[in-house]
Formats: sequence, C-alpha cells, structure tokens
Amino acid sequence: TKWVYTFGNGHAEGSALDGERLGGKGANLAEMCNLGLPVPPGLTIIADACSAYYKNGRQIAEDLKAQVRAGIERIEEATGRRFGAGDQPLLLSVRSGARVSMPGMMDTVLNLGLNDETVQALGHDAGDARFAWDSYRRFIQMYADVVMRLDHEVFEEILEDEKARLGYEFDTELTASEWQHVVSLYKSIIEEELGEEFPQDPEVQLWGAVGAVFSSWMSARAVTYRQLHNIPEVWGTAVNIQAMVFGNHGNSSATGVAFTRNPSTGDKSLYGEFLVNAQGEDVVAGIRTPQSITEEGRISSGSERPSMEKLMPDAFKELSRICAELEAHYRDMQDIEFTIERGKLWMLQTRAGKRSTRAAMKIAVDMVDERVITEEEAVLRIEPSSLDQLLHPTIDPRVSREIIGTGLPASPGAATGEIVFTAEEAVIASEEGRKVILLRVETSPEDIHGMHAAEGILTTRGGMTSHAAVVARGMGIPCVVGAGSMRIDARNERLIGVGVTLKKGDVITIDGSAGQVLKGDVQMIQPELSGDFGRIMQWADRARRMTVRTNADTPADARAARSFGAEGIGLCRTEHMFFEGDRIHLMREMILAEDETGRRAALDSLLPVQRHDFTSLFNVMHGLPVTIRLLDPPLHEFLPKTDEEIADVSAAMGMDAAALRQRVDALHEFNPMLGHRGCRLAISYPEIVEMQARAIFEAAVAAAYETGAAVVPEIMVPLVGLRAELDYVKERIDAIAREVTAEAGMRIDYLVGTMIELPRAALRAHIIAEAAEFFSFGTNDLTQTTFGISRDDASAFIPTYQRKGIIEHDPFISLDFDGVGELIRIAAERGRRTRNDMKLGICGEHGGDPASIHFCEEIGLDYVSCSPFRVPIARLAAAQAVI
Ligand code: PEP
Ligand code: MG
Repeated sequence: TKWVYTFGNGHAEGSALDGERLGGKGANLAEMCNLGLPVPPGLTIIADACSAYYKNGRQIAEDLKAQVRAGIERIEEATGRRFGAGDQPLLLSVRSGARVSMPGMMDTVLNLGLNDETVQALGHDAGDARFAWDSYRRFIQMYADVVMRLDHEVFEEILEDEKARLGYEFDTELTASEWQHVVSLYKSIIEEELGEEFPQDPEVQLWGAVGAVFSSWMSARAVTYRQLHNIPEVWGTAVNIQAMVFGNHGNSSATGVAFTRNPSTGDKSLYGEFLVNAQGEDVVAGIRTPQSITEEGRISSGSERPSMEKLMPDAFKELSRICAELEAHYRDMQDIEFTIERGKLWMLQTRAGKRSTRAAMKIAVDMVDERVITEEEAVLRIEPSSLDQLLHPTIDPRVSREIIGTGLPASPGAATGEIVFTAEEAVIASEEGRKVILLRVETSPEDIHGMHAAEGILTTRGGMTSHAAVVARGMGIPCVVGAGSMRIDARNERLIGVGVTLKKGDVITIDGSAGQVLKGDVQMIQPELSGDFGRIMQWADRARRMTVRTNADTPADARAARSFGAEGIGLCRTEHMFFEGDRIHLMREMILAEDETGRRAALDSLLPVQRHDFTSLFNVMHGLPVTIRLLDPPLHEFLPKTDEEIADVSAAMGMDAAALRQRVDALHEFNPMLGHRGCRLAISYPEIVEMQARAIFEAAVAAAYETGAAVVPEIMVPLVGLRAELDYVKERIDAIAREVTAEAGMRIDYLVGTMIELPRAALRAHIIAEAAEFFSFGTNDLTQTTFGISRDDASAFIPTYQRKGIIEHDPFISLDFDGVGELIRIAAERGRRTRNDMKLGICGEHGGDPASIHFCEEIGLDYVSCSPFRVPIARLAAAQAVI
C-alpha cells in the first residue's frame, strides 16, 4: 500500500481531489503546492493508516515507518536540513487532518526533532539562541501534553512562577538562558510526574507523535464531536508531517489565520488575526489576544495595536494576493493559516471557511453577482437547517441598551437568558426549560454539550477564531467573545461588568451581531426576510418541483407561514383549535355527553366556533389549498383529570360529579394512541363529522364571498386502515355538501382524501385510492405504527439505541427510508396506479427535515408540509433535492 504522499518545491503527489485519502488539510496542502504557493515541504500519511493502526493493536507498522522515513529524506533534500542531526537540524510539525474539519478536537505536535543537542545547533544556525530555547520549551510542553499525557497546566504553573520570580509580564521578555532554565525545570517535572525521561531520540519522538495523532481520533471529545456531526468513525484521520517554519523567530516573524471574506457578515474584505513572534497554537488557544491583519479591521475593533498591513506591508501584500488566488481557485471563501518567518510568508492550510448563515447568504449572492458561481450553486451552498439562524430575533433598534460589557461579535443574533458558569449547569437548566447564557473565560471542546444547550455564549478571552467563536457560528448560537471589560469570578459565580456585578441566575442579553452584553431582558424584533435571503429563496423556488405547504391550526400560524413562503396548508389539526380558552369546555361537553342528543347539543354550540375558525383560515390563505383534517386525537386528551377539574366540569354541565367520574373512567384507554381516535371517532359518532363538514362548507361559502377567491377545501380523514372506513365517513361528508350547496345556492368544490399513517393503509393504497382523492403521509403515526414504537415514549430509549449504534437517526426526526420509506413508496405507487393524477403529500414532522425532503422528491410527492418556521428550510431543501 502507498501510505505516504509527499509535497514540496512546487510539486505534490496528491491534490484537492484526494480529500478522502489525504484528509482535508493534506489534500489542500498538496493543491496549494501544485499551485506554486509557498508551502513548507512535507508528507501526508493517508487516513486508512489510522484504521490500520487500530487493527494493529495501536502499533505503527514497519512498512509505514519505512515510507515515512523515505518521505522525510525528501523533506531533508528540499530544505537542506537533517532530521535530528547536523549543523542545520530539520524540525517537523505533526498534525492531524481528518476528511472534515473537527475544530480543536485533534492533536498537533510542533517543533519535533529538538533535543539537548539539536537545540544548540538550531540556535547557532539561526544566530538566535533565545528562539531555539523558546522552541524547545514549546516542544516539550506540547509533546508531554499530547503524547505523554501530562497536563499542560503543570508547565504553565512553572512558567508563571518563573515570570513572577523574574518580574516579567510577557513570555516574550524571557532571555535565552532563562528559557534554558525553564526547559530544565520542564524536564525534571516530567521525570518527577511520570518517572520517565523526556525522549531525546527524534525518531522515538516522531512515532510517539504520529501514534498520538492516530489515538486522538478515538479521544472522548472527538467521539462526541463525531456523534454530534454524524461523522463516521471508519474515516480515521490522516497525519501531516511538515518542515517547521517559525513564527516565533523574532519580531519579523508572526503567525495568523485569515478568512478571504468576513465570516460573520460575509463582507468582501480580507479578515483575520495574527500574533507577532508566536507560534500557531498561541492564536488558537486564545493565550494572547491577537491583532487584526487589516487596518480596516483594526479600526473597527477599536484596537491600538498595529495591523499586519502596517507592520509587515510586504508580507501583507503577498498574503492578500494569495488569498485572492485561493478564493478564485476554489470558488469559495477560504479560511487559511499562515506563518511569517523572518519576513517570508508560508501557507500552512486552506479550506472552505465556516461562516454564519447570514455570511453564507451574502457570499453566495455576491459570488453569483461576481459570476464566480451559478444561481443553482448558490442554492446548494446554503445548509437548509442553518436557516434557523436567520429566523433568530435581533434586538429592536428603537430600545435603549444598557451595555455592561463589549466584546467581539462572534456569531450573530441576540439571545436572552440567565447566566450560568459551567456547561453542566447549562445542560441542567435547559432540561428544566430555562433559557441560559453560558459564561466562560474561554470555551474548550469539553464545553460542547453546554454550548448546545445554551441560548447564547459569552467569553471574556479569545478572538474571532477562538474555539467559542468557531463552534457557536457552526451551531448558529449567538455568541460574544473576548469581552475583556468584563470579569468572570467563577468561584463565587459572579460576573463583573461595567458598573454592575451579576450573580448566577441573573438575566442578561447578548447581541452576537454587535458584540455587546446588555443587562436584563430586551425587546427583540423578528428578522427581515428579504435581501440576500430573498434572492436565494427566489432561486430555490425557481429550481424546485415540489410545493411547500405548512401545518397550521390558527390564522396566526397561517399568516406566519405565508410570510415564510408557504403555498398552502397541508394539515390543519382541528383538535388543536379547541385547546384555547373556554372552547375546551364545549369540547368536553361533547365528549362526555351520555347520548346522541347531548352530543348534538354540544356540537350545535361548536359549529359557529369552527365555522368562524375555518373562515379566518380560508381568508388568510386567499384561495391557496387548505387541507383540514377531521378530529383525530385520543379523547382522553380532552378529559378533566383532577378532582378540581371534574368539579368544574360537572358544575358547568349540570352533571353529578360521581356520574362524570364514571364517564371519564369509562373512556379510559390502555393504549390511547392505538385506541379510539382518528376515523374511529367519526364512525362511532358521525354527528361530529357532520358538524365539522358543515362548518368547513359554510366557511368555504363565506370566504368565497369575502375574498372573491374560490375555496376548494381538502377534507382529510385520519387514521384510515380500511377502505370501508373511508367510504363511511365520505358518505357523511358528501351528504352535508349536498345540504349546504342547496342552502347556499352555490356550487361547492371539495376533495376528500385520507392520511396514510397505518401500514395497512399503505399496503391497500390502490383500494383506498378508489375512494380517496388525495393522500397525505402522516409519517409521525406511520413511523409509530411501522416500528411499533410509541411516539410519546420513544425518547426513553431511542438515545440509547443511537449511542449503541443500533440505529443511526431518530426515526421520528429523520425518515427511516428503508422501512417507513418503503411503505410510502408502495402506497404512492399503488395509489397512483388507481388514480394517476392523485395528489400526494407528507405532513408528519419529516416534512421539514432536509434528508426526508430529498426522499420525498425522489419518490415524486407533490408537496411537503411542515411547521411555519421550517417553511424556508423546506423550500431550500426541496430545491437542493432537484439540483
Ligand atoms: C402524523 O401522524 O404524521 C400526523 C401528521 O398527524 P399527527 O401528528 O397529528 O398524529
Ligand atoms: Mg397522525
């Protein structure tokens, strides 16, 4: 097997097309090398070697070692340096590089190859002993942490003590001999703590580092990250070994990161941060707060410290030129890492940059205008579920802001919540339904679960590329970082801001777009869905075939959904109309009535209420299709439960409390989801259907008069398993239609269809289609009845199933293509065999899930229907499914 691919001197064995084998970093290093960009020579060990390492009992195989040695010889040739020996020692960086980036999850070792001898040679060769010892202490600390598993804090303590002893504030003040002393302290603490010496043999160091990178693939945090992001474990990580270039080589050296466009706003201007006389880890770890690359960035952040543009104008020009070249080459915004060694620029990484949704929209639209990508490509560049971010509220500009701190605007949107100081507290609070803002000095991968649970994240340290910023943007959670004017006193659970001290549980608001922290709760406004968003959605609408409807039960929902672009109502759950106000009383009277007369009396009072609701709904939808489902739910949902409720209801109904209690008990079901619900209610109590049908038809007549638009109600019968059930209900509906037509003297067009939410209905679809004019797949119940898993109880064990790898996705969130999907396929095909123009849609929760929407496109459904806030997501996903 060819395990190793080399690159350097303008030629690479791999390219950007080899991402699966070389990992993202390795493939792009190869590509940059082939483009003739300044990339330090190196080699990539392919990701398959990672699996081989595990199969081999966590040992590095001899043939891999041989290939790596040969690759290092080529690096030696390219640099004129020798690894582990000679007057000009070669130092290496060893970095992970998985197929997709897992920020901060995996390990890296820099300055590898230093020992007590090479440090001397390096110092002589560079004419700078201080630089050599600074590199050596960095190497020992990183190697001990990553490979020998000695916590880096012990080293930080030693360094802090030394600085205190010497009266220094900054690391950069230490001299060569002082660093040399630190190195000897570091080596002794390793011996003390671990009972073994720091390895002096560069080859031992090398295999130690490679093994550690492979091992980091299975570290707890990497495993969690993969689970959260659905990254398969079998991928493994590649390893990149590269000649070191030194950003810590004095004040003409620096290291930094840059985005070719602003990752937060999408503005077309270079954006980034750098640190003089430092190595890359200093930036990422947030140890020092970096400086802006551009003057523009410096000014807008209000920083006094000079930009790279001012400080290193030549390197800056070169960087700008390369950024433009990379962006044009990859046709996407790039996130790059670079180092400047004594004035010379080196490229260490490029990849498609993570960005906020707002930035993604702007970049995609701008690139269409710049004729870099097509409209369809722009549509494909937006992750549908990320649209959630845009639907976040922002702070009403008209309210005055009580600012108690400012930081960097790391992830857009505003959020309000109680402050908590640990990830654990954030998780607990969110499980209790409380909204929280997670406060940390700086986040680390261990905080991920808390970041997920929080409404917003606030840190007091770190820059726009710190862990908190990158992760929050990815999650779409508002975030402010580096709020240096605030102080977190974690021990006493206090946040000290400008003029205030807050304690745990106090409420703050953060504005992730402005980088502000505000006291208390602040008035918010809903986002404007125009501009870039509007253009992307317009392109998406042009591309898609399926229509997108909404599940709406109230005129307010329907109005919201229309503003998001819904093209009809796919599901109006009529029972939801009765949860509001005192309507539940009428509903209870109807259900609890002891005979038909009692029931009809209650239904007579319900009729005008329903008619009014339907009329409003039709008016809002103005001629767009509206599907109304007949009463579906298990009756017990409406029943009084406590003694108090029973007393109230019995008083209202003039019924004896004991008799009422008896009636409630009689209605008790052991398994309500499989009980007296759906069309079974309509068959037991046809007067309910008659009332609902009348309300629908009378509302259609009224709305037709009011809006002038013809209304064609689609009446949907739930939980049908037998054709005869549908026939029975349809007969009642048709009879009422005839009555209302005669009364109104107006022709009423309508459709009667059914939900397909039982396996039997799916299998008998060709027979049911003889009576049904449309099908709507109720995939919530269809999933429940296909798996035999109660949808209300699934959360007790589905997470365990996922953790144990028994199922990948929760089938109630993302459609089970193989089982439930197969039933849908069968039903669609059989239904259309009987009635070839039959309209088919989906209205379970899956109608708003992008992966499920792809499936719906694949099998040719006519529409998907989802909750109002998911409508934009569905429009985009439906477009992506056809492109
Ligand atoms: C369904 O079962 O998928 C459906 C849409 O109906 P409900 O969720 O109301 O049961
Ligand atoms: Mg259902």
